[in-house]
Amino acid sequence: MPERLQNYINGEWQNVDVDAHHEVRNPATGEVIGLTPLGGASEVDLAATAAHEAFSAWRKTPAENRVQHLFKLKSLLEDNAEELATIVTRENGKTLSEALGSVRRGIQMVEVACGAPSLLMGQALEDIATGIDCESVRQPMGVFACISPFNFPAMVPMWFFPFAAACGNTFISKPSEQVPFTQKLVWELVHEAGFPPGVLNLVQGGVDTVNALCEHPLIKGISFVGSSPVAEHVYKTAAAKGKRVQALGGAKNFMLIMPDADMDTALDAITESAYGCAGERCLAASIVVPVGACHDEVRNGLIERISQMKVGNGADTGTSMGPVISQGAKERVLGYIEQGVQEGAELVVDGRGHGPDEGYFVGPTLFDNVNADMKVGHDEIFGPVLCLMPATDLDEAISMAKQHPLANASSIFTQSGGAARKFRYEIDASMAGVNIGVAAPMSFFGFGGAKGSFFGDLKAHGREAFDFYTDRKVVISRW
Ligand code: NAD
Repeated sequence: MPERLQNYINGEWQNVDVDAHHEVRNPATGEVIGLTPLGGASEVDLAATAAHEAFSAWRKTPAENRVQHLFKLKSLLEDNAEELATIVTRENGKTLSEALGSVRRGIQMVEVACGAPSLLMGQALEDIATGIDCESVRQPMGVFACISPFNFPAMVPMWFFPFAAACGNTFISKPSEQVPFTQKLVWELVHEAGFPPGVLNLVQGGVDTVNALCEHPLIKGISFVGSSPVAEHVYKTAAAKGKRVQALGGAKNFMLIMPDADMDTALDAITESAYGCAGERCLAASIVVPVGACHDEVRNGLIERISQMKVGNGADTGTSMGPVISQGAKERVLGYIEQGVQEGAELVVDGRGHGPDEGYFVGPTLFDNVNADMKVGHDEIFGPVLCLMPATDLDEAISMAKQHPLANASSIFTQSGGAARKFRYEIDASMAGVNIGVAAPMSFFGFGGAKGSFFGDLKAHGREAFDFYTDRKVVISRW
């Protein structure tokens, strides 16, 4: 029998007494490896009540003492990094090296959150009027929750809970029902790190759990990462209940290549960006815009690089690209490839029929002469499909990117400082790369897009996390 996942509430592992569940499958084999219970309001209520009760003692625990648990957790995560990566590969499909890289990125979040005693400091000014002093202090707010997507089972939840807990809040994490096992191990380490019961809680589940989190009166704020329609739904539902919300959504990322770019560097970076993690990255290259005369060189260079890729089980050495997450995801990506052909895009490399027969494999796919009116040129495909959309000059290329409603990340490849400056100044995407394929801010910077890729104002991690997870109180004193 596949393992049935439990919740971790108030310092204990608890069975979830519901019949409904999601079958967790290894995407490389299709094998059922677990059952995520699909609870809802009553499990969320248990977790929210436990977190609410733990808040008063946790907020009074000095920040210096709170982060000792995070130091311990960081060390445990380091010790278990390879094991975590193996679980990520088994339930998500990405290659072991990609999985290990994502675990490392998660650990870096804990490292930055350990700086809370400094990062939580406020501001003060004497004599704002004669004999009157003013100070601004940051205070934790209560119970926060995060809702995560399937594509980074280790990293994304760590964008949130280390910062929230370091600030003195208590927390509920809901992983994607498609990848519950990685956070199960993370929470075993949370338990070992000795956080007091109720401070960090794990609730497995799906849509009903999300909606219950958005509605629960004891929850003060929600951090969400996933597709844009769900991000917007979470943003609106939770905000209508008076909660603070940051909701990170989907992407269609434009990569501009100028004729003066160092072409080998650019094409290596774009190939990795488009096909790494089977294209299931919110920072993945989706549209490549060759500007002016470099179109043929870009197209031929990408074809050559794709021909060297090996599609297979991410756990096997030598695999450069694993499967997509599910049969449904595979069918959706294949549907887009078929639609692209019907819409008149030129299918230069056809990924259909690639990889092992079992599992959910789609090979790297390349379309040329795509335009914004085509579904492949417009929709987030979230699979290994890259589209070439040529432009005559930089103005046209930037304008094509700016016309898209999503604006998560975008990059330019050039050796011209002037072109790079114009791009970074004008582009809407709020994660902008210059000669970078995956413009990922590290843990000490904020992470999040713009326009339809982000709902809220304060981004994830970095200093912005300390703004999101605290209220600023101003104290004005005369003695
Ligand atoms: P998703 O939106 O389907 O699911 C995300 C979470 O929402 C899951 O926990 C899921 O249980 C829940 N959910 C799904 N449908 C729901 C509904 N109708 N109502 C309430 N809750 C619901 O996303 P996914 O397929 O797991 O992840 C892929 C998406 O996430 C892509 O669009 C990708 O671009 C995006 N993503 C964005 C970022 C970012 O930083 N902007 C990072 C990673 C992934």
